[in-house]
Amino acid sequence: MAEDERVFSHDNLDLEEEGMPSCPAPEDWRAELVWVHYKLFQPPESHPELAEGLPDCGIGWLGILDRLCTQLQYLLDEEGKGNTIKLMQIKEEQGLLRVSWNGLLSQSTTANADKLIELACACSACTCEICSEEGRLYRRGSYLATACDLHAKGERVPMKPGLENIYIRRGEINGKIQILSCRRYDPKTNSFTDVSPASLGLE
Ligand SMILES: [Zn+2]
Repeated sequence: MAEDERVFSHDNLDLEEEGMPSCPAPEDWRAELVWVHYKLFQPPESHPELAEGLPDCGIGWLGILDRLCTQLQYLLDEEGKGNTIKLMQIKEEQGLLRVSWNGLLSQSTTANADKLIELACACSACTCEICSEEGRLYRRGSYLATACDLHAKGERVPMKPGLENIYIRRGEINGKIQILSCRRYDPKTNSFTDVSPASLGLE
């Protein structure tokens, strides 16, 4: 395949072959993701395509979503009965993946679920939404999109060197807005590591 024809195909990723018992695997990748992870999406019977959380993003993020769903299901299985997660919305917003859910979980499991979602969203920030290659943020008029060099249309959003994949959380401590956490996302290991804000020239 010529380089400029590179598009992420459904065949690039093997989803589980088992899914909803009430219907065969759908052809559309969004519905198939729901079909495989139906316990998390809780779609109407035999209609994975009608799930509230049906992804509204590009196929390049399918691998991120499949991994996230597998990890969330594992978390639930570990936690035991009575704990539920229903994925309510999965969408692209400002070039990033957004995932929201409802459910009944213990406080610690909620924190773990949120951490997995945070990692998936950080991963989307460096993954082309069209083909799943390494991506960066581009501005297309009033829209932002994460894309590889090939699928980039528009202008690259400037990023200060050294601040790539840095996530900073600020909050109020003693009436003053301060940095609560400063982390770098590593796409190779899909993990965050703490970074000293001072080492990045931040206060
Ligand atoms: Zn691409």
